[in-house]
Amino acid sequence: MENNVRLIGIIQCDFAKERCSGFACVNSFHERIDAFTGYSKDDNIMVVPFNCGGCPGRRIGRVTENLIKRAKKKANIEKNEIVIHLSSCMVTDSAHYPPCPHLDYIEKILRRKGVKVRKGSYKSKTAQRRREEGIYEEFEWE
Ligand code: SF4
Repeated sequence: MENNVRLIGIIQCDFAKERCSGFACVNSFHERIDAFTGYSKDDNIMVVPFNCGGCPGRRIGRVTENLIKRAKKKANIEKNEIVIHLSSCMVTDSAHYPPCPHLDYIEKILRRKGVKVRKGSYKSKTAQRRREEGIYEEFEWE
């Protein structure tokens, strides 16, 4: 895990967000569990959740650009100190639906912006059980 992380963005699927407050992802970060175990609780890391804007990740480029500019201007955070997590509702097969079909496209946009990208956020126990039962696709947690 990089030790110069000062800001984490969590991108959530627009469709999933119609029924999800986003609490579980932010809570996982707050507790440093699930996909966030590698970040120390002692580190003063800011978290900024936002949604993708609908297929195929319509607002991701614009919002990430805004995030980079604001982080630099307001908190002197450089873009290489930002990690964007693609939330579990985007990257895993889950109660919402199978993984986002636009992941390669979205990752390309984010990497071109110069931020680091990681996959996953909240780890649902039910989805994990269904993965083990072969109902949902496997997912390799980083
Ligand atoms: S399927 Fe992918 S691009 Fe479409 S709304 Fe969900 S996360 Fe966004």
